Amino acid sequence: MNGAEFFEQDELVSVLTTQPLDRALDYKAPEGGCFRGAFVEVPLGPRKVLGVVWGAGQGNFDRSKIRSVIRVLDVAPMREEMRLFLGRAADYTLTPMPAMLRLATRAPGLGDPPSMRKIYRLGSGTAERMTDARARVLEVLRDYGGLAFTLKELAEMAGVTSSVIKGLVKLGAVREEDSPRDLPFPTLDPDMPGKKLTEDQSAAAEALRQSLRSGQYGTTLLKGVTGSGKTEVYLEAVAEALRLGKQALVLLPEIALTAEFLTRVEARFGARPAEWHSGATMTERRRVWRMVGQGDAQLVVGARSALFLPFRNLGLIIVDEEHDTSYKQEDGVLYNARDMAVLRASICGARVVLASATPSLESWANAEAGKYDRLDLSARFGAAVLPEMKAIDMRAEQLQPGTWISPTLRQAVRARMEAGEQSLLFINRRGYAPVTLCRACGQQIGCDHCDARMVEHRFLKRLMCHQCGETKPMPEACPSCGVEGKLAPVGPGIERLAEEAEATFPEARIAMLSSDLFGSARALKAKIEEIAQGDADLIIGTQLVAKGHNFPKLTLVGVIDADLGLQGSDLRAAERTFQLMRQVAGRAGRAERPGQALLQTFQPEHPVIRAILSGDEEGFWKAEAAERQAAGVPPYGRMAGIILSGPEVGPVFDIGNMLARNDGPLRQIGAQAFGPAPAPIARIRGRHRVRLLVKAPKGAPLQDAIARWIAPLKLKGDIRLAVDIDPQSF
Ligand code: ADP
Ligand code: ZN
Repeated sequence: MNGAEFFEQDELVSVLTTQPLDRALDYKAPEGGCFRGAFVEVPLGPRKVLGVVWGAGQGNFDRSKIRSVIRVLDVAPMREEMRLFLGRAADYTLTPMPAMLRLATRAPGLGDPPSMRKIYRLGSGTAERMTDARARVLEVLRDYGGLAFTLKELAEMAGVTSSVIKGLVKLGAVREEDSPRDLPFPTLDPDMPGKKLTEDQSAAAEALRQSLRSGQYGTTLLKGVTGSGKTEVYLEAVAEALRLGKQALVLLPEIALTAEFLTRVEARFGARPAEWHSGATMTERRRVWRMVGQGDAQLVVGARSALFLPFRNLGLIIVDEEHDTSYKQEDGVLYNARDMAVLRASICGARVVLASATPSLESWANAEAGKYDRLDLSARFGAAVLPEMKAIDMRAEQLQPGTWISPTLRQAVRARMEAGEQSLLFINRRGYAPVTLCRACGQQIGCDHCDARMVEHRFLKRLMCHQCGETKPMPEACPSCGVEGKLAPVGPGIERLAEEAEATFPEARIAMLSSDLFGSARALKAKIEEIAQGDADLIIGTQLVAKGHNFPKLTLVGVIDADLGLQGSDLRAAERTFQLMRQVAGRAGRAERPGQALLQTFQPEHPVIRAILSGDEEGFWKAEAAERQAAGVPPYGRMAGIILSGPEVGPVFDIGNMLARNDGPLRQIGAQAFGPAPAPIARIRGRHRVRLLVKAPKGAPLQDAIARWIAPLKLKGDIRLAVDIDPQSF
């Protein structure tokens, strides 16, 4: 039965908590009993903690010492398929179950009955004696439109004490209410007339609809050039899921993309779906979590962690821009949301659609091997054509030192401006300059805690470490030699490029798009809308602009340094550069006017640059695949990283060496360990990091071997170990 096993009062149950314990604990079922999967509060030492009834108790303790479950929370019990999913995800990523459970319970105040809460929203009265604190509260409430908050949330967001809010309640400027039970989401109507699809689009949509109707697990790679209507097509799959009474989940790689997407959903289905991401308020997250669990949210649009929401009846998962590296969580539980989507769907019999203009080599190979279906949209919608791609050979260009926009690119931008069209200059570097160098001693300014350079951010008037986020003011004197006035920026970042652009095109309206220039998702969204409406002639952007945005007036993309990603020894560098360049170029010419992409490069004959220019994707993939196959790396072999970290580098290496010497369990499965070597980021926040890379044949039981390999380790002091299955770089 589907999680319906019931435990009578005082029967022993095993409860998995979110606490870092190595196993589930036994408790007595509470008064009234409980179902398997029930979310419960249990005593642990002096504390009360959240847990889930995982099964029958083990009973290997003195029964009289076993305590009782305090209470069963008023939320739908965890379903069997979720328990399976968490278990398999834990096995796959070699993550302890409590950490896995924490991912699945990221709804603040999960246990609080919603009807008991007081919430606060904008009132009709005006506040007398307006103070700064009072003004801030009202500003927050106005900013969020009609939304209501709990006292604690509102106080936190406005940076005031709760008494300030209570004061405003007395004046009537803020209204205090009993929170209704969770407000349901408005119903989405799958049968509202949508756009008329082209023949190609219709065929793809029909194929997806059919696969959904089978009610069985399967994955489809939806490959289509940027602007070909992938979104239109997969929205038809969403419509079909809704018709079938199933829930759908759309994962987006970037919160900044959500706003535009929600608008499209609203246009297609007549209402907005549920949203799930870290930027949502706690109230909203709690509501979404509960509604999803009750089956009352038909469609969720969210970040990767939305995969761990308690769907009741999940029929479809879309992973948009499936190649995007931000689907890999690099903190805490190391998982790739694309792969976890496939796992989750295979457990609950859902369909997965992986959409991309530039799929990952993994997904491409899975389609080649027949494990995934593949649908192609090869033409842009309407009059839009793919941009013409050309290299600017930087060896032949005359540039002033300290400038990066070549004369050829400058001319092209001018021509677009004169035609009333937008241009984008793309540079994959945040800040003003990547390096700050002392002209007296030749030293660069580095982060005190990481093995990284400090990057000058003129906009923030500080130096910033892009690894740990630490900032400090720009010093007058060199921290190494003490000489004043000799610190100089080296190389371009987006801010420096913008400075050059301002000097080069003084009459242009220039918009900068970089994640750290915007304090909030709202400010960023406003900027993106401005650009889309045409309120800029020239956009200067980092990676942020490469993702999915739709700027109809944009017809020229200039890539400042197309070679940037090709350096280094990472075997994925070619794939990443190819994807990024094709994505960025795809921003141009999305509407009627044809676009062009110009790539500044010092090595126009490099095979990757040539593949980017020619657009011969299948050819590129085949060549890449052959190389990976020869090297025995993913997707033709398996890899894992073991990352050891600690405050001192010596002991961390010692443990790494010990692991490398005792590699019996690996050799048994034909796997090999390389290293230890400094990890790709060798020091973060004062912790030294050392990595061993494990390479195994495809199909080998890698996780099992690694588990046996590291099991005998006794980590002492502050040394930590993390396993990274399928690392991003190798
Ligand atoms: P992709 O997701 O492949 O980049 P989109 O679905 O965003 O492509 O489509 C690109 C643009 O073309 C969007 O503005 C979209 O609304 C429009 N479009 C695509 N297909 C159609 C269609 N059949 N009818 C009308 N507009 C369409
Ligand atoms: Zn740092």
